[in-house]
Amino acid sequence: MRSIFMRYPSGKAKAVTFSYDDGVPGDKRLAEIFDRYSLKGTFNFTSTPCFSSEEIEKYFLSKGHEIAVHGAFHRANGNTRPIEGIRDVLDCRIELEKRCGRIIRGMAYPDTGITRMGNFGSYETIKSYLTELDIVYSRTLAGDNDAFELPSDFHAWMPSAHHKNPQIMEYVDKFLALDLSENVYHAIRTPRLLYIWGHSFEFDRDGNWDLIESICEKLSKSDEIWAATNMEIYEYVQAYKNLSHSADGHLVYNPSLTDVWMDVDGRVYMIPSGETVRID
Ligand SMILES: [Zn+2]
Repeated sequence: MRSIFMRYPSGKAKAVTFSYDDGVPGDKRLAEIFDRYSLKGTFNFTSTPCFSSEEIEKYFLSKGHEIAVHGAFHRANGNTRPIEGIRDVLDCRIELEKRCGRIIRGMAYPDTGITRMGNFGSYETIKSYLTELDIVYSRTLAGDNDAFELPSDFHAWMPSAHHKNPQIMEYVDKFLALDLSENVYHAIRTPRLLYIWGHSFEFDRDGNWDLIESICEKLSKSDEIWAATNMEIYEYVQAYKNLSHSADGHLVYNPSLTDVWMDVDGRVYMIPSGETVRID
């Protein structure tokens, strides 16, 4: 039996993404650091970020970064009644779409998010209303780990680590050293993702902008990594999941508008948008 795994654009097995919250002044400096190292970030704004529409376009969107929802009033969804949670997400989405002139479907849970259900709510209810509000993914927190797995549930997307995790540099080194080639056992050849999050004001407060500089510098030296926003990763995974396979697995059709890569027994195939490829 063959082993088949998704590969990121250009056949890469690893991706990296960043997620930073609150729309604070330091986000501009952070975006400039990402630009310098050809990395991409998702910036999660409330409905009152400190940037004008022109600044959002200039420092973030035109550079390929993503703006995502973070709650109009930054309310923890687990601690608000559903109708309040719905309003907080929807108001934020409408306001940010107006300011950005783009469709915004990503989110990072504000505050304690879904880690506490202090108002007798449930994750199922929150996931259901986010789905109805067309929020396709949402980042959660407090489960730092070095598995570097893609989420099975994009509405509870657990990052690898906060940048303040004392082991962050070990995580980065471990990620860079991962061998996902055909030389290793098939079960560990899944595509991997390093996902780092935080708040840019923490770099000001802790006086450690050099930390994010060194993380970015280290990652930028690897040519094995796809640097993407949260949404680019989400959309790429959807395109991979939407591939059609013949019953014997020898034909693969890509109905999406995105070229998709896959690894079959160590050989990487590109399935171009709209085409059917024979896998021998
Ligand atoms: Zn926040």
